[in-house]
Amino acid sequence: MSLARAITAGLAAAGDRPVLGLLDERGQLTAELSGRQLAGSADAWAARFTAATLGPGDRVLLSPARDAELPALHLGALAAGLTVVPLNPALSDTETGRLAAACRPALAVVTMAAAAARPGLGADVPCWTIADGPTGAQPRPGQSGGKDEPGPALIIFTSGTTGQPKGVRLTDANLLYDLESLMRLWAVGPPDRILHMLPAHHFHGLVLALYGPLMSGAQLLVLPRFDARTALDAARDHRATVIMGVPTMYRRMLEEAGRGDDLSGLRLALCGSAPLPPSLGQAFHERFGVALVERYGLTECGIVTSNAVKDPVAGSVGRALEGTTITIRHHDGYHRAGSPAATRSGEICVAGPSVMAGYLDDAAATASLIHDGYLHSGDLGRFDADGNLFIDGRLKDLIIVGGTNVVPGEVEAALAVVEGVTELAVVGRPDEDLGETVVAWVVAGPGADPAVIVEELGRHAAGELAAYKRPRDYLFCEELPRNAMGKLDRARLADRT
Ligand code: AMP
Repeated sequence: MSLARAITAGLAAAGDRPVLGLLDERGQLTAELSGRQLAGSADAWAARFTAATLGPGDRVLLSPARDAELPALHLGALAAGLTVVPLNPALSDTETGRLAAACRPALAVVTMAAAAARPGLGADVPCWTIADGPTGAQPRPGQSGGKDEPGPALIIFTSGTTGQPKGVRLTDANLLYDLESLMRLWAVGPPDRILHMLPAHHFHGLVLALYGPLMSGAQLLVLPRFDARTALDAARDHRATVIMGVPTMYRRMLEEAGRGDDLSGLRLALCGSAPLPPSLGQAFHERFGVALVERYGLTECGIVTSNAVKDPVAGSVGRALEGTTITIRHHDGYHRAGSPAATRSGEICVAGPSVMAGYLDDAAATASLIHDGYLHSGDLGRFDADGNLFIDGRLKDLIIVGGTNVVPGEVEAALAVVEGVTELAVVGRPDEDLGETVVAWVVAGPGADPAVIVEELGRHAAGELAAYKRPRDYLFCEELPRNAMGKLDRARLADRT
């Protein structure tokens, strides 16, 4: 079965029941679509793609705002057999250009503003705007269920564990296994109203929070962007039963909450993408009467562990999904939950149906991530005696800013070219609100004025890097710390920061 077919089945089962509620910036409901209406609109997009002779094997870059067209556009593209490549609208032109060059899309569908600017797409990528709507082709009834054959479904660009962002190829089979397992475990279904408040270009906001609920016939309430006050109001006023977020969002909601903020309709608050400080989990539970349920995964293998809805284990990301094997790797091999060695911290390794088909056009990077039958997560963890996984830290060079990953290498490559900079390295600095922020250490060239360099670095970062990747601070040193092999010692640099 294809993901498109599974989502269409969810919409068909919903029939005239609302499956999509659109909220405005203040959280007020502005429009509602039934399962039948959403399927109709997806059919129309699918027909427009097909009429443009796009089909299996073609990739489409989708950069939609979180609005009425978002689910229909995705479902229409998937149903037409296209491989969807979600694009982060916040990327700089350079970053967008690099991504388009890597995935060679047959088409991009973007917002009006983005189309006007043609953000780094290059003249050879045809561009439709969402405002044009799915007009111009007559859908055949039921077309959005059209693609039944499983195959490639999504390419999500992520930082990976090293170097530049890479395209993660996810198949229908990857996504169906993961979503069916999770929606069952979390008991997501028609009575649920799920508040969608995440960016819809990575796994969390797109696959988990959008495809999953639509597939299970739940109602999605889509906020155009996250704001703690609006999220609290919307969850209360529309009696949301489920929310999904990153620790930063929950912290901000907790800080914002006043006396009148009642989330008693909430039965499940899912949390992931970054470490959840235990004190935050506890404070949220005490204030709202609902526990934060942690789950864990990577774009490269989807979500592979989750706590149960009832009585989640504090500090743990839960157990492996049924059908997925997680081991803890030490120098002597891979150890499963239940063995004493797995209670000692080591690298978390994953095998199972949700492990990606590989990175796009990068066999070497795929082979260095997936070998010996396991995907090597670059995260450190251990099991308790009951098979609950605890994350202890990271082996890989990754900075997680408010739930979004930043690879130091990418930022360094973009900024090292600035005049007056001899060397530059970035590290994460702990941050109360965002978990971590990016800080750059700079070795200035002889006679260079640090104030001028900082100004130039700031200007360059603004042009080249999406805002969340830009250093918050520039610090200067005589030389960067290196180990005996001459390799940058990031741990020492981070300690100094
Ligand atoms: P992404 O591919 O963007 O989903 O990021 C995956 C990385 O986010 C993982 O390798 C972890 O380092 C981190 N991560 C995801 N979920 C959690 C969690 N629940 N706790 C701690 N770190 C997490």
